[in-house]
Amino acid sequence: MRRKLAAGNWKMNGTQVSLAELAAMQGMSKGNVEPLICPPATLIYAAAGLKTGVTIGAQDCHAGENGAHTGDLSAMMLADAGAAYVITGHSERRQDHGETDGDVLAKTEAAWAAGLKVILCIGESEAQREDGSTLEVLATQLKGSVPEGATGSNLVIAYEPIWAIGTGKVPTVQQITEVHRFLRTEIASRFGDDIAGAMRLLYGGSVKASNAAEIFAVEDVDGALVGGASLKATDFMPIVSALN
Ligand code: PGA
Repeated sequence: MRRKLAAGNWKMNGTQVSLAELAAMQGMSKGNVEPLICPPATLIYAAAGLKTGVTIGAQDCHAGENGAHTGDLSAMMLADAGAAYVITGHSERRQDHGETDGDVLAKTEAAWAAGLKVILCIGESEAQREDGSTLEVLATQLKGSVPEGATGSNLVIAYEPIWAIGTGKVPTVQQITEVHRFLRTEIASRFGDDIAGAMRLLYGGSVKASNAAEIFAVEDVDGALVGGASLKATDFMPIVSALN
């Protein structure tokens, strides 16, 4: 059985005082649900030190091991600071930093080499949704960004329609069902049924307490990647509970 994952992505939000929100999330890890928070890199070490039972992750890594890359952080550094996961391919990285599928693949491999699990994000734009190319776009992203060697324990795929991120707009249950079923089939055709059956598929984009239960009821949804509603314990905890 796939363990559910409730992943929070704080993006470029959070200073030392925000650790109080993480402390308030203590005790959330229970049953078949793994809560995870990806704070900004500046807070990873302190967040991991709180030992709240909430797993800590990072939001990005460089594809190299070390070297002359001013301002960048390697996967090994993030692991050393206490991260167990890293997000790769978030649409904000693809947009703000021009990251390609090839970059995402290289970062994912680097993360695995450092012992990190990866949450790899894919998703279509509003124009692609409207012109009917969603599944084709997702298949291309999967093919180009998921490395050989993916398993149910080293990789999580997050489906995040770009038009649903931070907008309050959410796809219909039918649309999420169609995409998640498609993703599992695509993974099965490349990696086999066992790996596809063990891999967790998250939905992300405007998840909040009021819509979480409906989204989590979709058969191939194994959790969520949550942005805005993960910043406060009082918003995030009901989402985690909806997975139980
Ligand atoms: P949101 O962000 O929940 O604020 O829409 C989701 C994400 O970008 O991971």
